Amino acid sequence: MTFATLGLIEPLLRALETLGYQTPTPVQAQAIPAVLAGRDLMAAAQTGTGKTAGFALPLLQLLTLEGPKVAANSARALILCPTRELAEQVHASVAEYAQHLPLTTYAVYGGVSINPQMMKLRKGVDILVATPGRLIDLFRQNALKLNQLQTLVLDEADRMLDLGFSEELANIYRMLPKKRQTLLFSATFSDDIRLLAGQMLNDPLSIEVSPRNVAANTVKQWVVPVDKKRKPELFVHLMRKGRWKQVLVFAKTRNGVDALVDKLQGLGINADGIHGDKPQATRQRALDRFKASDVQILVATDVAARGLDIEDLPLVVNFDLPIVAEDYIHRIGRTGRAGNTGEAISLVCADEVNMLSAIEMLTRQTLTRKMEPDFEPEHRVPDTDASGQVVKKPKKPKKPKASGGGGKRNLGKWVDSGEVAPAEPSIKPVRKVPVFNTGPRKKK
Ligand code: AMP
Repeated sequence: MTFATLGLIEPLLRALETLGYQTPTPVQAQAIPAVLAGRDLMAAAQTGTGKTAGFALPLLQLLTLEGPKVAANSARALILCPTRELAEQVHASVAEYAQHLPLTTYAVYGGVSINPQMMKLRKGVDILVATPGRLIDLFRQNALKLNQLQTLVLDEADRMLDLGFSEELANIYRMLPKKRQTLLFSATFSDDIRLLAGQMLNDPLSIEVSPRNVAANTVKQWVVPVDKKRKPELFVHLMRKGRWKQVLVFAKTRNGVDALVDKLQGLGINADGIHGDKPQATRQRALDRFKASDVQILVATDVAARGLDIEDLPLVVNFDLPIVAEDYIHRIGRTGRAGNTGEAISLVCADEVNMLSAIEMLTRQTLTRKMEPDFEPEHRVPDTDASGQVVKKPKKPKKPKASGGGGKRNLGKWVDSGEVAPAEPSIKPVRKVPVFNTGPRKKK
């Protein structure tokens, strides 16, 4: 099968050739003809499967061949994304695919001045990529009208609910024309998402290119049990031992990110961090430098977990396990993309056993445990398996404590990964389903 046999027009084929895409991925093979035929779509596709092109290519084609010219302050297609980073990335892909088409594209998101965005929207744009909050602000300030909207894409829909965007989605839903095409993409499908799909989609075609909630099998995954306090030390040890070149590291809290970055930088390691407290420009710069291999270790909260496409990323480390099990799939989806192989290592302490169990149950696999010599935990991590059972330890063999901290290196002040810190929006286990007749929007 080729992109030409899927019915794509020549300017798109030319763009794909430049990008080196030769064969459609499974999600593209299913989504492209369905979207071209005007169907609504509910697609469960893992990260790295090529889902962006799956919706963007047919969307660009329909906008080129059908419909009126875009009016002032209008958009003909809207792609909603959960985070600014994802909005930027999706927009960059869309712009690449559209390079030979007479269409305009633009991305809007919060955290940056709204005025240039309002100016840009004056002439109207064919495809607008947006985060929900900023989209509503622009709509309320009359900078954007949605009556010309032909297509709505919800990208990473489950993530939008996780981030607490359910009210925003309900508000946006009310702004949309009734007659439109809606495409819902999500790497994982919870019952809440299915409910949302039921409200927003019209006779959708369901696409599932991989078994539900299963992590990419190109990613080799294992767990290193360790005491919570020794995680930083273990990380540095593994990094040196494995001669890690480029690693994306996930920590649970913003403080956790900052502390690990400080620690690594203090040891002369080239590290940077991204989380929701940092200004957008700083986050983007850190990400760009990481992509360009100018930064060796990028430490992130789950804000960075989804959608970010970093070519050939060999390794993801979960310094802390995610609170929401589905985030594990998104995190490790940063590696092993587009058919490459990757590794995902999780440093797991006894406190995290329930999270580990939830991840194993969700991914239907028991993660291999590899004990690292000299780092065997004093607080044993109880046995877990894919059935969701946590086997409490029968008895604890007392280990004689060596004097002087058991050979631990003093790593200075460390903000414990479990320390209470302002909740990261992306790890809030919010699972609210939009109610489409709710009152005023909660101020963010
Ligand atoms: P996505 O899942 O949309 O984030 O895409 C993951 C990566 O796969 C991106 O780097 C895309 O540029 C790349 N990609 C998407 N479709 C194809 C294809 N058909 N052939 C080769 N690479 C692709």
